[in-house]
Amino acid sequence: MGKIIYKTESEIQKIHQSSLIVSKTLAEVGRSIEPGISTAELDKIAESFIISQGAKPAFKGYRGFPGTLCVSVNAQVVHGMPSDYKLKEGDIISVDCGAVKDGWYGDSAYTFAVGVISEELKQLLRVTKEALQLGIDAAIEGARLGDISAAVQTHAEKHKYGVVRELVGHGIGRSLHEGPDVPNYGKRGNGMKLARGLVIAIEPMINLGRKEVKQLDDGWTIITQDGKPSAHFEHTIAIGKGKPEILTTFEEIEKVKAAQL
Ligand code: MG
Ligand code: MG
Repeated sequence: MGKIIYKTESEIQKIHQSSLIVSKTLAEVGRSIEPGISTAELDKIAESFIISQGAKPAFKGYRGFPGTLCVSVNAQVVHGMPSDYKLKEGDIISVDCGAVKDGWYGDSAYTFAVGVISEELKQLLRVTKEALQLGIDAAIEGARLGDISAAVQTHAEKHKYGVVRELVGHGIGRSLHEGPDVPNYGKRGNGMKLARGLVIAIEPMINLGRKEVKQLDDGWTIITQDGKPSAHFEHTIAIGKGKPEILTTFEEIEKVKAAQL
């Protein structure tokens, strides 16, 4: 776990700028998600859009990662690499994106349906997004880190889903990953106290089946051990007075998706 660094109001505004670029990028990617497009093509769309906004992709080159996006299809949980794989009707694809502008990072992820997906998958996506929102709702000044974790875990497990343990949310700011770790499992009342100026990425990774995951030989891609699909939603948020400030947004993405229906 990296160092915990509290941010001033003006620093949070910088992170907000980068975060909004990430959100717009995800909407641009979402616009192009349809059967037949390759994940490498989605990656190109994201890279040129981020650059057009005067920002830089945060993931490209991060510990040698080759893409602007992490694209994780079906049983891939996170950290999938863009490739010539062409999306198929009924797939789900988790798209994780980071951008850096003026030295400040934003980070967000959204799991998209490719064409028409099964009711089972629709529910997985809905519940994972709800778990993220419940985690955010728990992220108030004076609460504990474990309150966020417990909110996410309780909601996912109520639906008999597996909550991934090995990968967690994180602080964010001048680095993509700072302290504290933000696990998606834990106990209410445990962990550090949340104070104003803390900026974190909350990112539940929820499996349709069991919680266990493994890494592929490519050194990046994380997949479920049981081969069942997994969903991932992420927001960058700031702890403030009262309600947390959500710095990334799904609004643009969901406008695009509604227009496609
Ligand atoms: Mg991310
Ligand atoms: Mg993240």
